[in-house]
Order: sequence, then structure tokens, then C-alpha cells
Amino acid sequence: MDNARINASRADVYLTSTNAFTVKGQLVNIDGVGNRVTSMIFGPKKVYIICGINKLAENLEKAIERIKENTYKNARRLNLKTPCAITGKCNDCDSPQRMCSVTAILEKKPSKIDIEIIIINKSLGY
Ligand code: SF4
Repeated sequence: MDNARINASRADVYLTSTNAFTVKGQLVNIDGVGNRVTSMIFGPKKVYIICGINKLAENLEKAIERIKENTYKNARRLNLKTPCAITGKCNDCDSPQRMCSVTAILEKKPSKIDIEIIIINKSLGY
């Protein structure tokens, strides 16, 4: 599995989404491992970030709030044993399977990577 993560970080093209984006254009992502946010900012030659308009948040605080309010859906999808998977709410857990270990905020495009962001005017994903 880690080989797949390392290879993805060296890919010619990396396709991903963002957990949230703000009115100011900041991208906000929270990862458990960190490989996804790493590959969004350094490594691949080209990154496409595709997301639905439902990921739009007024500001950074609201962006993090929306991510935390929706993390339980991914926890359930991945069959993780986190408190949010059971209760539907975040309790800032210490679970070994915690999904929220790395928070990355992209204020502007990092200088060494080519990123294209495509926002689709539909509700997509969590
Ligand atoms: S910190 Fe834990 S309980 Fe909260 S959303 Fe993340 S995984 Fe779920």
C-alpha cells in the first residue's frame, strides 16, 4: 500500500479532490496519512483537483467545520472504527484509525507544481 502512495506522489498526473475551498480560493484538506495533501503540493508533474460546489465554504473556519461534519461518512465508507463512524459526530478522537491527523491549507498555488482546479456546479462527494 505504501508503494502505491509513493508511486502516486511521483505520477505524471495526479487526480484528486479537495475537502473544502473558501470564497478566497484557499484549499483545505484533512488527511489521516498525509499522502494526499503531500501529492497535491509537491511531486506529481500535473495535479487536477476536481470538486463539487458543495465544497465551498465562507472562510477557513467554516471549511474545517464542514470537513469535520462530513468525516464520519468517509469513516463509515471505509469501515473505520472511529467514534464519528458510530455517532456521526467528531469528538476529536485518539483512535488509531483517526482520519484527521494532517490539516493542509493551500493559500496560493505552490511554486513547484502545476495545479488545475475544476469546480463543478453540482453537489459531489462529502
Ligand atoms: S477526529 Fe476522530 S472522531 Fe473526529 S472526525 Fe476525525 S476521525 Fe472522526
